Amino acid sequence: MTWGKYVAVVGLLFALVACSNSRPVATPQTRAPSVPVRTAKPVRPTVVPVQAKPGASGNVKLMPVLDHGPRDRKQIALTFDADLTALMRRRLVSGTVKSYYNKALIDELRALHVPATMFLTGMWMEQYPGITRQLANDPLFELGTHTYDHRGFTKHCYTLGTVPRDQMLADVRRAITELDQLDPHATRWFRFPGGCYDATALHELAPAGVTAVGLDVPGADGFAKSPQPIIKQVLDHVQNGSIVVLHMHGGDNAPYTAQAVGPIVHGLRARGYQLVTVTQLVSRR
Ligand SMILES: [Zn+2]
Repeated sequence: MTWGKYVAVVGLLFALVACSNSRPVATPQTRAPSVPVRTAKPVRPTVVPVQAKPGASGNVKLMPVLDHGPRDRKQIALTFDADLTALMRRRLVSGTVKSYYNKALIDELRALHVPATMFLTGMWMEQYPGITRQLANDPLFELGTHTYDHRGFTKHCYTLGTVPRDQMLADVRRAITELDQLDPHATRWFRFPGGCYDATALHELAPAGVTAVGLDVPGADGFAKSPQPIIKQVLDHVQNGSIVVLHMHGGDNAPYTAQAVGPIVHGLRARGYQLVTVTQLVSRR
């Protein structure tokens, strides 16, 4: 199935933008105004189209899934997940891990002018609200969500645990609400923790109105022992339209992503690939 079939077609929403009827503050008049006061022309309400947010889905029965972009364009989307689980937070609190924000990675992306899509867990946004705002205001980046606390959405998703079926929608909506509070340009792209989902999850989460972004190239930076295997994994497996998954939480979970990203970017650009966000990857021109 092509990517296009997955992407929900969302009709344009229309909103009435009406002028506000604010009352002027009364000021005491000591004398008559020297020029006649013009009566302002009545302002008509204007109907303006409001573009749906990228990734927004109108499919109320099944969450759409996007695994890659068009295969006929030399474009690739690098994506970065910001995991934060209850265990990871305990490590932060105890001081075992100093930070789960990989600043060196973000600095590298900015220095190389790499557009990127980032998927943030709700707990990560709670931990780093100021950084989330900075990322949201950087035109290079777009932000989506990655559930609240990075539990799995299938029974056996590595060691991530499982969100009970009746809590799935609330979990995903919680992260969306948090992102909306911090990011005026928040997208409706979403990523499942561990890439784990099944028909039940897609059905339960359809009302969230988001599109799941999968991948066709796992970056293998989780618990990597050096940058080289990450670089090789990405450069060996990408093709037109690829969506690459890497991680931006650093710490002990993804310690070499910052060192790997430079060679990856240079390698991809040397082969003629343009690096784009997920929204740019699927946009028709
Ligand atoms: Zn993750």
